[in-house]
Amino acid sequence: MAEIRLEHVTRVFRGERIPLAGRRDEGATVADGPVAALDDLSFTAPEGKTVAVIGPSGCGKSTLLRVIAGLDQEYQGAVYYNGLEMRDTPPRDRYIGMVFQNYALYPHFYGHGNLSFFFRMHKAPDKEAEARIRETAEMMGFGFRQLLGRKPGTLSGGEQQRLAIARAMVRKPALFLLDEPLSSLDAKLRAQTRVEIKRLLNRFAITSIYVTHDQVEAMAIADNIAVMRAGKIEQMGAYAELRAKPANTFVAGFLGPYPMNLLRAVVNDTGAVAAQTLEIALPDDVRAKCGRGQGIVVGIVAEDLALDFSERHAEARNALQGEVASLEPDFARHSQYVRVQTACGVVTVSEPSNEPLALTQPVAVSISGSNIHFFDEKTGRNLAG
Ligand code: ATP
Repeated sequence: MAEIRLEHVTRVFRGERIPLAGRRDEGATVADGPVAALDDLSFTAPEGKTVAVIGPSGCGKSTLLRVIAGLDQEYQGAVYYNGLEMRDTPPRDRYIGMVFQNYALYPHFYGHGNLSFFFRMHKAPDKEAEARIRETAEMMGFGFRQLLGRKPGTLSGGEQQRLAIARAMVRKPALFLLDEPLSSLDAKLRAQTRVEIKRLLNRFAITSIYVTHDQVEAMAIADNIAVMRAGKIEQMGAYAELRAKPANTFVAGFLGPYPMNLLRAVVNDTGAVAAQTLEIALPDDVRAKCGRGQGIVVGIVAEDLALDFSERHAEARNALQGEVASLEPDFARHSQYVRVQTACGVVTVSEPSNEPLALTQPVAVSISGSNIHFFDEKTGRNLAG
């Protein structure tokens, strides 16, 4: 197990297209100008914990993993494993288990050969290899043994995935790096496999860094989530913490199946007002930081807004008038997400699924909950605390 620490790591691609084995967009063309894939990034993955890294496409997630693994050495700054600087340690000596989207299983070897390859490379005694393979097969659970006698080409995507995970586990890694490991599986298999991965990660308590586009997966698997944007980590914490106190508008607008509504408002003598009709009270600590006339951004989740679609909706006070732009049912929660076009842009409101709403219906949106966030309009930073 290892604590992984990065200090001021910058990786700039100067417009060259460097073919890097194992990249999922191998061979893809990239922008001409220099790109800071990692931009003065500092970050710690605590020992034995799983950190999921999420962020928009191209924000540097895969580069982060490659730099941590030592597969990319062209960075400035420092990478430490348990306090040891790793610049001169080749990847093979770092005790890393890697699972990438293209599993890169050895096609000519049976499952067993894929697992024993590492031991043959390191000239380990057969007895040791067999013991580890047996142990790993047991941990991988039901039905795994059969995969050992088959070649990767004869396995389904999910089976190949399990084999790739087992191959990473068999070497007892100190660090586990996973890059979109489930993205080629169908929804059902994804859900099953993520439970399995979580079980394995818990059981081994291996420090793991898990890159994914899927926030549900990140929530299910990780202890902590790191939200990346343009080569930087904007915030790291448990999902509930990030939702409860997003550091800035980017995190607020990125997290969740329905990201927080971000409404522009202007501070006045009594609070703040959005689109001249929606008054929002300001907590004292936020108030103290804002001057009259200052622009702020108010963050409200869909569940904390309510719709008035009665005949008298147009008379609703302290509300945004608007028109239903789209309806999306969420059957699992017996609710529907209603997007409303307002003077503040499109606002998403959660309503019970049995409410009879229709497209273009005029409605009024008001605030029903108290979980409201305030951000500086210029810097995007959370003004609370
Ligand atoms: P995605 O989610 O789409 O896989 P990502 O967050 O993993 O994206 P990276 O693959 O780390 O992003 O890429 C970060 C930036 O660095 C991108 O702008 C990308 O074009 C650039 N980049 C990555 N690899 C190379 C390379 N080998 N040569 C040149 N530019 C690169």
